[in-house]
Amino acid sequence: MYYFYCVFFFLLGCILGSFYGVVATRLPKNESLIKPRSHCEECNETLAWFELIPVLSFLIQKGKCRHCKTKLSKVHILIEISTGLLFLFAYLYYDISYSFFISIILSSLVILIFVSDMKYMIILDSPLIISAISIFFLKWFYFDLSNAFLSLFEGMLSFFTMFAIGKIGNVLFKRESLGGGDIKLSFLFGEALGIQMAFAAFVLSTFLALPYAFACLFMRNNHEVPFGPFLVSALWIVFLFSEKFKNVLDVFFHI
Ligand SMILES: [Zn+2]
Repeated sequence: MYYFYCVFFFLLGCILGSFYGVVATRLPKNESLIKPRSHCEECNETLAWFELIPVLSFLIQKGKCRHCKTKLSKVHILIEISTGLLFLFAYLYYDISYSFFISIILSSLVILIFVSDMKYMIILDSPLIISAISIFFLKWFYFDLSNAFLSLFEGMLSFFTMFAIGKIGNVLFKRESLGGGDIKLSFLFGEALGIQMAFAAFVLSTFLALPYAFACLFMRNNHEVPFGPFLVSALWIVFLFSEKFKNVLDVFFHI
């Protein structure tokens, strides 16, 4: 059964990853999820169902369009395999449990936000809303209703903290310092991690973003750095190692 679940969650990740790829590249452009049907970017030929099987189609067609033989973009197969690996990892690390489901939600967000924020500087609302609702019900199911409501409260707290930091940043830098998407995403920090761990994750996200921000500034003279991928990575990492982060914070606060 163990190996069955390993294969099952990897494949589930690949299939959902394929869907996330479509969501993250179409919704920011206000395109529909179903129309137009998936097609080759080069020859516009609509793809048949057997050309849309995650990972497999790409491998069978050797990474080329069946009609015009143009090389296919590797972005989609990368998204599919990464999601598959993240889902497999969640199962190996947690077995099927509360933490497993939270980890599945957070790794889905990592994929979605990486693609949409890096490509279009947009964090979509719908995945955030679906995640917030799912986390609420998971807390209710695995703990109790008061725990679920408490996590909503902690979510609001981290949301308004980020909102205030954003406002202060706007005044200091005289331009928008934090995007609306970043602030909405920070609701999930408090909800999923609790307020103390949420702050640890905020700090970690700035450390993760700094090298990239400096590289952008010096190499391309670009001041617009998408912060979402770093925020959501920090959220996932702190959740994964929450015990270790708790220990560090305990030491820190007891000095
Ligand atoms: Zn083609």
